[in-house]
Amino acid sequence: NSQKILEVRIVPFVDSNLMLLIRDVTRLTQIEKMRKDFVANVSHELRTPLTVINGYLEMLPDSANLPPLMVNKAIAEMRTQSVRMQTLIEGLLQLSRIEASNERAFDKLVNVPQLLWQIETEAQALNREKQHKLFFDIAPQLCVYGIESELRSAFSNLIFNAIHYTTDKGVIEVKWQMVKDGARFSVKDNGDGIAPKDINRLTERFYRVDKARSRKTGGSGLGLSIVKHVLTHHNSNLKISSAVGVGSDFSCEFSPELTFVTSKPIH
Ligand code: ADP
Repeated sequence: NSQKILEVRIVPFVDSNLMLLIRDVTRLTQIEKMRKDFVANVSHELRTPLTVINGYLEMLPDSANLPPLMVNKAIAEMRTQSVRMQTLIEGLLQLSRIEASNERAFDKLVNVPQLLWQIETEAQALNREKQHKLFFDIAPQLCVYGIESELRSAFSNLIFNAIHYTTDKGVIEVKWQMVKDGARFSVKDNGDGIAPKDINRLTERFYRVDKARSRKTGGSGLGLSIVKHVLTHHNSNLKISSAVGVGSDFSCEFSPELTFVTSKPIH
């Protein structure tokens, strides 16, 4: 990783002399590689569902001769795949909006307790099938300066991931607490866990530990990348501690300057 990439050029110089130019192009090469990987990844992620949809569409002209059960299954699968493409495109748009945002992250006070109670309702609905024990422990007066829509995406991504990547009937704890250095958000689960080799790469776009599993849960591989960008925008960063078969703990802290405690509980 510490190897440098150098560009060496010999160019004419005065009096028929030659000049040797050496330029460090390590960063440029990395950026170009990231750009190419990104385009390749987006193309691949969009092509896969399209291939499936096209396959079913070819079959449909003969639908009169097919059992209705088969036709219904084809329609349901096409719907799943188009939702997958939609999730992916929404995720990409969200990422580029955050990257291009001129909005200052610290202008507005965000009512985090209310935000988390709203996400709790959505999480309970999502959890109906999985039947995890979901615990929300939320400091009712603790707010932060930031951008509500971004914080909503970051917190909900982390909470929904805990639900998705924990086998049925697990235990998930969401906490929003005051700490001496500001405010702390955390989501702890006793789910699949993540191997050390994967932890550092989780916030890369499209990085998924188990592609097949992630596809089943409808994930696009962009969630944690969005979380990382949102937290950077709020001067914070994502901490991940995890062990395979034991579970994961995702957390982040907001500095005291961004934290505000209201005089009355907000309900
Ligand atoms: P995805 O859309 O695939 O969920 P994310 O960026 O949100 O994408 O997550 C990246 C990968 O990190 C997931 O595919 C999954 O393998 C892993 N992951 C995320 N959260 C958890 C968790 N709470 N427990 C175990 N693995 C997780």
